Amino acid sequence: MKALVSQFHAIDITQLNRGGWLHPSTTYDWVWRTSKGAHVVTVTIAVRESALELSFPMESTRVLQRVSLAYSAGPHGGKRPWFTCPQCQRRVGVLYHIPSRPFFCRRCYSLAYPSQYHPRDRSYGRQHRMI
Ligand SMILES: [Zn+2]
Repeated sequence: MKALVSQFHAIDITQLNRGGWLHPSTTYDWVWRTSKGAHVVTVTIAVRESALELSFPMESTRVLQRVSLAYSAGPHGGKRPWFTCPQCQRRVGVLYHIPSRPFFCRRCYSLAYPSQYHPRDRSYGRQHRMI
């Protein structure tokens, strides 16, 4: 049985882009909480030229994962950003992880969407703050 995307934490390039979270030299914490408000995991995101550096806890340490960004032409002459999956190198809009695992795309984790599940609703409780 496939794991469900709802069991994973996701970062969405469209959301980061719309929120202005892709400016180089920006560093911030992306925090996931449970529906009861408990702190689940914090990923520190540092924006570099054409890449993000994701720092997150893995076992008793923190690891740094570099994710390259790619750009395609947008519908109104702008550029649409994509993540490059660190494992398969596909251009993807969303990367997933679970605690103690790196960020990979949905295909690399063989994730399925539950049938009555809205992918857009997965961001409940998300907060971030500038460092
Ligand atoms: Zn992948």
